[in-house]
Amino acid sequence: MDTSKVLSGKDTAVAVYASFKNRLDILSKRGIIPGLCVILVGDDPASQIYVKTKSKKLQSLGLRSKNIYLNNDVSQNELIQTINGLNQDSNYHGILVQMPLPSHIDSQLIINSIDSTKDVDGFHPENVGWLSIGEPRFIPCTPKGIMKIFKHYNIELIGKDIVVIGRSNIVGRPMSVLVSSNGEWSNGTCTICHSRTKNLEQYTRNADVVISAIGKPNYLKADMIKKGSIIIDVGINRVEAENDKGYKIIGDVDYNSVIDKVSFITPVPGGVGPMTIAMLVENTIEAAEQNIP
Ligand code: NAP
Repeated sequence: MDTSKVLSGKDTAVAVYASFKNRLDILSKRGIIPGLCVILVGDDPASQIYVKTKSKKLQSLGLRSKNIYLNNDVSQNELIQTINGLNQDSNYHGILVQMPLPSHIDSQLIINSIDSTKDVDGFHPENVGWLSIGEPRFIPCTPKGIMKIFKHYNIELIGKDIVVIGRSNIVGRPMSVLVSSNGEWSNGTCTICHSRTKNLEQYTRNADVVISAIGKPNYLKADMIKKGSIIIDVGINRVEAENDKGYKIIGDVDYNSVIDKVSFITPVPGGVGPMTIAMLVENTIEAAEQNIP
């Protein structure tokens, strides 16, 4: 494998975690331990793994971490009451409700009920608004992590043609805002594509950077991209495999097909994923820093 083309989220995350030390020391001197509480509704195994991974990371860095597990049939009101309690709890600077929620619960209503100063996911409408007017408070973790990867590898986006595939509030939409914003390390020209885009290839073939966040295994192939382009693969797709687990995780990008054509690419795993958790830690630290008198 040609590793010179690989944009490693793992390596970037190591550098990012090292940069937290000073900030954590300053907080510690003031008696502040950043704390994150995650609420998980139901017993989806993948979500349980995510939640445990997050708390292990927080604990390993000396942050406070609590997980609240609620049954799948919890009522919307009970969930809101739990959030209200955490909104008042000064031990927890960040609150995260693991998505997706069961269909009887209105996810947006739940996001709206989180105190926006504790919304470390950056999904609350107030934080979405701050981001879109160019004065970000909490930036959603996955797009924020991708911007850190660009910076870590000294990849400037200024003037580049960037195609984001996917328009979710979690990844695609905030990603398009970040890469096109008038800020340091951005100023790209962004096109956002989705499932209704006609002739999607005509956009990706002309792009300097393609960021794929659709959740379709091996979707992006060599004939869909320009030679020398930079590819960011956000997809996490579980596919059958002949190993102990019976499955493996692959991205949206057909890595073997595109590798000879790209200038840089994020692998899956080890690309965007590790940065998402690192940014959740950073947002929790930021939330705690707001409490410094
Ligand atoms: P999502 O909410 O399902 O959104 C998927 C988006 O992709 C939608 O906008 C959809 O278009 C679009 N889309 C689907 N099929 C398409 C196609 N064939 N052509 C063009 N656009 C298409 O998913 P998400 O939450 O944004 O996540 C996307 C992927 O990233 C998933 O694999 C997820 O697991 C992964 N993810 C990874 C991380 C990480 O840390 N690495 C974090 C979050 C998510 P419409 O809007 O028209 O339906």
